[in-house]
Amino acid sequence: MSQERVDVIVVGAGPAGTAAALTLARAGLNVVVLERGAYPGAKNVMGGILYRQPTEQLVPEFWRDAPLERAIIEQRYLLLTQDSAVGFTFRSEELGREPANAFSVLRAPWDRWFAEQAEAAGAFVASGVLVEDVLWRSGKIDGVRAAGDEGDLFADVVVIADGANSLLAQKAGLHREWRPEEQALVAKELLRLSEDEINRRFNVPSGLGVAIEAFGESTCGLLGYGFLYTNRDTLSIGTGALLCDLIESGLNVSDMLDHFKRHPAIAPFLEGAELVEYSAHLIPEGGWRAMPPLYTDGALLVGDAAGFVNPLSREGSNFAMISGKLAAETILEAREAGDFSAAALSRYRERLEESFVLQDLWTIRNITPFVHERPYLLRAIPEALAEAWKSYLTVDSTPKREKYTKILRQFLKRVPPRQLFADLIAARRLLR
Ligand code: FAD
Repeated sequence: MSQERVDVIVVGAGPAGTAAALTLARAGLNVVVLERGAYPGAKNVMGGILYRQPTEQLVPEFWRDAPLERAIIEQRYLLLTQDSAVGFTFRSEELGREPANAFSVLRAPWDRWFAEQAEAAGAFVASGVLVEDVLWRSGKIDGVRAAGDEGDLFADVVVIADGANSLLAQKAGLHREWRPEEQALVAKELLRLSEDEINRRFNVPSGLGVAIEAFGESTCGLLGYGFLYTNRDTLSIGTGALLCDLIESGLNVSDMLDHFKRHPAIAPFLEGAELVEYSAHLIPEGGWRAMPPLYTDGALLVGDAAGFVNPLSREGSNFAMISGKLAAETILEAREAGDFSAAALSRYRERLEESFVLQDLWTIRNITPFVHERPYLLRAIPEALAEAWKSYLTVDSTPKREKYTKILRQFLKRVPPRQLFADLIAARRLLR
């Protein structure tokens, strides 16, 4: 590809890059997507729950043809101690009724299918190409340099969509190296289990599924969570925590995942399931506070490369796709004006501010630090709640008045009321 020129280069064929390429190709631009994997999705990792409404903004009615696993109708949240689980469940058949709210997906088939939609619209996807650097000309990014014999490729704009810990964002001068408190490391396994057995164990019919998120012992008390999602005939299970906490505690995510899998509330779901795949991946969790500049002369950052993830609500793929789409719309506008300077591309940030992407990142900006500064929330609270429930359910001829007083006293011993009160006041300010 040495010395070739196209309208737009997209680096990375994850949800962000493919969404940008699809939008640009539909508008008739000459777009090349460079993907280091053997094919899009080959090595990509996600839990993963994909949301229907944002995805339909890219491919209307994708759910009719796309490789989806199950429509999620039940969400369980668990607070785990060493041997017990306190839970909250929401289930509604309506969530699974066509066109459904969210689906479990496996990234290899999903990314491949999504990239095929971009190709069908006219984008050229080159797999097995590792981009090593950006190229500058007259003070503006003007192309990229690929490893090996692939050579250089030039374009009016480069969309940097290379995911978490983006090397190209650093090369473009948009970001320093991410800090350990800004990234979570997650280990994930894919386990095979027959479709009938999944239906039976999770109490769902074929095609419908369950998502479980577990806090507390699932991460050995660190800030993060474990997850278990039903696919058609596999289960996705994983857990992880902020890198800084993993380093400080000396825990590693593989051991943490084994620990989570052995928990008595989780192990029965996995019995007899066969390991198909193991992976580990970073998630950018620095949010608003760690957000880099989002554009420079001739380049834009999208998806995980920009840190667009809402870890609270398990959303990343939708942030990636919508930021890719908004970046593409900004490029189309810039092209009409014949101006790819940072000033022209600044409309990208305005578009993001008008959307849920930056509004949500702003809304949740204080929540991760709030929980991080209060480790008791993921340690003492699950213990205190489990102990209270155990006492409440144990019928031992203690008169109820005496029992309730004892439960309250025990709870307040683990969670001092002064601290609880102060934190509730502080929590009220979180969403302002
Ligand atoms: P990626 O999906 O990481 O794609 C980046 C692409 O760039 C990859 O294909 C990569 O191979 C390619 N690339 C990287 N460097 C280069 C290079 N130098 N040259 C060429 N190509 C390159 N989100 C949800 O919405 N729901 C979930 O349930 C969920 N669960 C998750 C569970 C885990 C364990 C993890 C790790 C993430 C999860 N996320 C979830 C987040 C979600 O996966 C990401 O936010 C989303 O994939 C980001 O998309 P992206 O396109 O920006 O980056």
